[in-house]
Amino acid sequence: MKTLELARKLISRESVTPEDAGCQEIIIARLEAIGFRIERLPYDDVTNLWAQYGNSKPLMVFAGHTDVVPPGPLDAWDTPPFQPEERDGLLYGRGAADMKGSLAAMITACEDFLGTREPRGSLGFLITSDEEGTAVNGTVRVMEWLQQRGINIDYCLVGEPSSADNLADTIKIGRRGSLNGRLTVRGIQGHVAYPQLARNPIHQALTSLAELTAIQWDQGNDSFPPTSLQISNIHSGTGAVNVIPESVQVDFNLRFSTELDDVTIRRRCEEIFSSHGLDFQLDWQLSGQPFLTSERELIDAACSAINEQIGLMPELSTSGGTSDGRFISPAGVQVIELGPCNESIHKVNEHVIISDLDKLSSLYRNILEKLL
Ligand SMILES: [Zn+2]
Repeated sequence: MKTLELARKLISRESVTPEDAGCQEIIIARLEAIGFRIERLPYDDVTNLWAQYGNSKPLMVFAGHTDVVPPGPLDAWDTPPFQPEERDGLLYGRGAADMKGSLAAMITACEDFLGTREPRGSLGFLITSDEEGTAVNGTVRVMEWLQQRGINIDYCLVGEPSSADNLADTIKIGRRGSLNGRLTVRGIQGHVAYPQLARNPIHQALTSLAELTAIQWDQGNDSFPPTSLQISNIHSGTGAVNVIPESVQVDFNLRFSTELDDVTIRRRCEEIFSSHGLDFQLDWQLSGQPFLTSERELIDAACSAINEQIGLMPELSTSGGTSDGRFISPAGVQVIELGPCNESIHKVNEHVIISDLDKLSSLYRNILEKLL
């Protein structure tokens, strides 16, 4: 029940990214009361929190975010998104599943755990209000701050809603990389009736794009599906049907496995566009390198806790979008994601199963008991 109460308090705060709206102060009060040392780490308009209990190794950290995605059209919600509402065994509200329910469960898990024993190691919380937005001044900056102080995390559990049909049926042990490319091909504008006086950038781009989309980048591996490239936008033309446009702009995204890295992908793309003799420019934005936790301690602790309490063995997955795990893993941290069902996240009428909140808190506590 206390996990539900805390989740309700957090959902009541209108923390649309990058707003924290006082969520972290609620968390701080709870963690201070059980002996955590608090560091408030605001960067620009982002609110971040580092909290630590003890100094010994290993250091196990709960990571998460207090920000939520915008609610969208309010009249599409059955009840107001920032007024938590219990109905038919579900708790409704923006952030209920992503991820204020998990935050509440992490805190009550630590309260229960520290209420019964001293850990053989230390505990931390890494909380940001910039996960759903640009992710520039959030977890990345806190990781830099930790590294400057020589604080090395051993295990990190991210509370992202990893579950599909039932609580804990899936945990994430890595994520694919994500790379955005923007191709601009320049031609020469002209009248469609006088193509000899123009150069059509759409025609020029098409052959190279056909080659680009036909590439078999890799076969994937045991932990990752094959890399995929998708074109998401093509912009060109003046709107007139008798004008050859001056340029075309093409956006594409790659979700890539650990078989590849962004440098290799970029080089291959440059080669293709160069070989077609295009007058082009390529702009890149890397939103995350792929990561994978291959060491077993944290994964095994989570699997056996889930098996004991829920009676199933979770699927170990690397599917879905990116998460802040991508900023934590490169420091040599074992990272997994374990949270509630994700079927309603980012949608109207977002919700979490009320009975899952206490189960999640017990799972987190059980994992702590196994590791510390
Ligand atoms: Zn999330």
